[in-house]
Amino acid sequence: MSKLSLDHYPTVINSPWPAQPSISIIRGDLIHPIVSGNKLFKLLPHLRQAKLAAIETLISVGGRYSNHLHALAWAGQEFGFNTVGLVRGYPEQVLTPTLIDCMQWGMQIHFVNNKDYLDRYESAFWQPWQKMYPNSICLYEGGFSKESVEGSTHWWSSIPAQTTKVVCAVGSGSTLAGLALSAPVGTEVIGVPVFKDPLNYLDLKQKIASLEVSPESYSIWSGYAGRGFGKLSAAQAQFKDEFERDSGLLLDPVYTSKLFFAIQDRLQNDPKLSSENIAIIHSGGLQGNRS
Ligand SMILES: *Cc1c(COP(=O)(O)O)cnc(C)c1O
Repeated sequence: MSKLSLDHYPTVINSPWPAQPSISIIRGDLIHPIVSGNKLFKLLPHLRQAKLAAIETLISVGGRYSNHLHALAWAGQEFGFNTVGLVRGYPEQVLTPTLIDCMQWGMQIHFVNNKDYLDRYESAFWQPWQKMYPNSICLYEGGFSKESVEGSTHWWSSIPAQTTKVVCAVGSGSTLAGLALSAPVGTEVIGVPVFKDPLNYLDLKQKIASLEVSPESYSIWSGYAGRGFGKLSAAQAQFKDEFERDSGLLLDPVYTSKLFFAIQDRLQNDPKLSSENIAIIHSGGLQGNRS
């Protein structure tokens, strides 16, 4: 159990925008050379519970480039669990670097076709797998859960005390909810969704409210989803290249590229922002760059 206290914590670096000295980047990408910081934090409470219950095997689902499965496989090896990845895809497809890592860390991979994968939120989907792997638990994809939100409060340990705004990318919303749940007075929490939603993120807001996180405790910057989940606009793709070249920092294609693009855009269009102390959560995900 003592191993479950991670010894690598994210560190802060100063602004890559020379005109904006009061911006810090919380380097979740440095927790581990390739495992995504954010996904690891979300898993930790589940891992602790599983250890206490003497569970041997953790089963979860994801795509062929999944940061979540990647972090799960790594954590399984690190903390002594068997892991099983139910991957949306077909065995005849070329293995991705993500899946090759997962297998090297001991994950058993089973492919699930697109149609069956649709049922992954039904308990019937999981039953045969639980039978095949006794003494196991199943974790939902990209996990929005009480536990994952609790794990996400961990970021605060690296956010500078004088911060007035914290900005993070939003997928499932756990990271945003975790930050909002534990924000100190005087710090605004802002989420940048990386997927489009014609209903103005109503579902997301309801999910967050279901954990009794107040809607006043965070804001959403919308309009930065590019061409939709996993797809950058041409301007965002160009920004990613230029930003990486100029700053030496790397961004992932799904989350942090859109997040940093949003910050750049707001800095250019809202002069009031320059008087704020901003912390940007670099949530990792760089393994997804290797395609
Ligand atoms: C999953 C993920 C996010 C989004 O986090 P949520 O808690 O699902 O909103 C952000 N960045 C990276 C790198 C991720 O893998």
